[in-house]
Amino acid sequence: MKHIIILGDGMADHPVAKLGNQTLLQYARKPYMDMIASKGVAGRLITIPEGFPPGSEVANTAIMGYDLNRVYEGRGPLEAASIGYEMDADDLALRCNIICIDEEKIITHNGGNLETQEAAPLIDYLNLHLGNEHVKFVKGIQYRHLLIVKGGNKNIVCAPPHDHPDEPWRPLMVKAKEETGHESERPTRFSAQETAELLNRLILESQKLLANHPFNQERIRQGKRPANSIWPWSGGYRPSMEPLSERFPQVKTGSVISAVDLIRGIGHYAGLDIVDVEGATGLADTNYEGKAQAAIDALRRQDFVFVHVEATDEAGHDGDLELKLRAINYLDERLIGPIFEEVRTWEEPVSIAILPDHPTPVEMRIHVNEPVPFIIWHPEITPDAVAKYDEISCVSGSLGLLKLQEFMQTFMTI
Ligand SMILES: [Zn+2]
Repeated sequence: MKHIIILGDGMADHPVAKLGNQTLLQYARKPYMDMIASKGVAGRLITIPEGFPPGSEVANTAIMGYDLNRVYEGRGPLEAASIGYEMDADDLALRCNIICIDEEKIITHNGGNLETQEAAPLIDYLNLHLGNEHVKFVKGIQYRHLLIVKGGNKNIVCAPPHDHPDEPWRPLMVKAKEETGHESERPTRFSAQETAELLNRLILESQKLLANHPFNQERIRQGKRPANSIWPWSGGYRPSMEPLSERFPQVKTGSVISAVDLIRGIGHYAGLDIVDVEGATGLADTNYEGKAQAAIDALRRQDFVFVHVEATDEAGHDGDLELKLRAINYLDERLIGPIFEEVRTWEEPVSIAILPDHPTPVEMRIHVNEPVPFIIWHPEITPDAVAKYDEISCVSGSLGLLKLQEFMQTFMTI
């Protein structure tokens, strides 16, 4: 049997008064999800382990069957994988924003909407002046880049810059965590204190360098915001994730299809191929048909596909009820529909799972940590009594309330 997970990021929601106190999944038009629910089995899943924030990278890693306490390394290493930087064992990879500061405050986390082609010469310039055998900047996308510190120590506290607009930046600089006693396990690394000092020195030197760069001087002349400081955060080591093929004999080969760096990074370390789909944007206008076709093509050749659609989460963050209802409908009729209609006739049966990673309720506009509804169908499954796919119906699903890695184990064996 082949397996496909179709994930609507942030799709679960809360009852909304405007919808007669129904949730968006209860209200939205989604004939395929309801049909699959009625032919298959349902349940709910806890996707966020205790002590972790309800981040997409956390939830998607758990859904793919990994123990976060063992493999979680932050965003840096996932983004490294997504942009094709293969980490060495002694690398510390940090997300490195180029932000805009004014005197003592963080103005924006995105360097005044820096474009990728504008950022490239700035990254080259930083490498020329600050790069050495321990420090390397790697180009990413827009304001989102990577800082590799060879021998860097991850036991440091960094502030995500998007959480601190208009705040003074000096108190937010990198600090060492209390020494954990594990330092001796990695004798080749700097101490946490040395790493924090190195990163803070880089921040200060980047500010001097970037202030004088012609790009920023021109931006200031035009009355635009300069991209005038690096800001490293969410650093980690290469994740000790064994490929899915080692854990599940059903998954010898597979693909991940997502426009989101973090999800592509998880897929890379899980040993999956990263499939690019033209027009897959992570927004409401994403190329649903292209993703469906890419999923079908991958599934023809391989055992496992993970398709991730970001549009539902974006609409939730925007607090846009109509847009999120439309995103659910598009996911259903333009992605799930074509995949279901294609694979239902295949000789080798295909098992389909549908779920979100966490709710992003439109009335809260943030991720929340609550169980999510899921459904699983394949041609030989004995259906349970659940006939619709939503947060309420799935409570009475035959699979009950699963936790974290139990989902993948169940999906592979049911
Ligand atoms: Zn998410």
